[in-house]
Order: sequence, then structure tokens, then C-alpha cells
Amino acid sequence: MSEQRLRQAIDTLKESGVRITPQRHAVLEFLLNAMVHPTADEIYKALEGKFPNMSVATVYNNLRVLKDIGLVRELTYGDSSSRFDCNTSDHYHIICNDCGKIVDFHYPLLNEVESLAEQVTGFDVSHHRLEVYGKCDECQEINTKKH
Ligand SMILES: [Zn+2]
Ligand SMILES: [Zn+2]
Repeated sequence: MSEQRLRQAIDTLKESGVRITPQRHAVLEFLLNAMVHPTADEIYKALEGKFPNMSVATVYNNLRVLKDIGLVRELTYGDSSSRFDCNTSDHYHIICNDCGKIVDFHYPLLNEVESLAEQVTGFDVSHHRLEVYGKCDECQEINTKKH
């Protein structure tokens, strides 16, 4: 499954004329396999053993290239810790209050929200983002063990 996605992603890279460096390949592969939503720092830490000469800046640079051709989405949360998502299909996120884990879930898109917002505000709406917050499985377990 992820092998196929990796091959598709690499085809997209080739079509866009983007050079596939070993680091770029590794960043992409990591994102596709992780299926979490890592920060650039987490990607760097996971790959630094494999690429001792790679810097966090290189990771950022590669993420920007992947983002520009639409293979990766950047999720910003108002601080410096952007997270990166290689699931570029429309989906929503649920975020754990305790550990910060982000999990994808699918729900029919709330497109009425966009047309309503346009009508009410006169904005030209580009997209919307919905986040649900709670406590993940693992964090719930930690809590029950404590008590
Ligand atoms: Zn959690
Ligand atoms: Zn996601």
C-alpha cells in the first residue's frame, strides 16, 4: 500500500521536474510510512542516523519542495511547530490534548459551512479546517493505570 503510494509520489516528483535526492526520497518515504503528522524536527531526528550531513534546514527545504508540488500539506498551529501531512485527500483531524498526537478521520465535507460563511461575511472562501480535541487511546490507558 505505502509502496504504491511512494511510487506514485515519486512519479509526481518526476513529472514536476523536481530532482529526487536521497534525502528528499527519505523524507517522503518517512512521511508516507509514518502516517502520523510529524514536525520537521521529528523527521530530522528520525533520519539523522541515515544522513549524518543533513541539517534541519535541509529537511525544511525538502518539505517546502514537496508542499509546493502538492504532495505534502503543512498544518500550522500558530507556533513554530508546523506538522506535515502526506494525506492530501480531504479529511479532518482529531488531536490529543495530552500527547499532541493527530489522527485522520473522514467525514462528509462540511461544504455548507463555506457557502454559509460566504453569504454571511461576503468573503471569498478558499477552504476550511476542522479540528476535534480529546484524549487518545493510549493516554486514556495511562490514566486508568494510575488510578
Ligand atoms: Zn494522547
Ligand atoms: Zn491528516
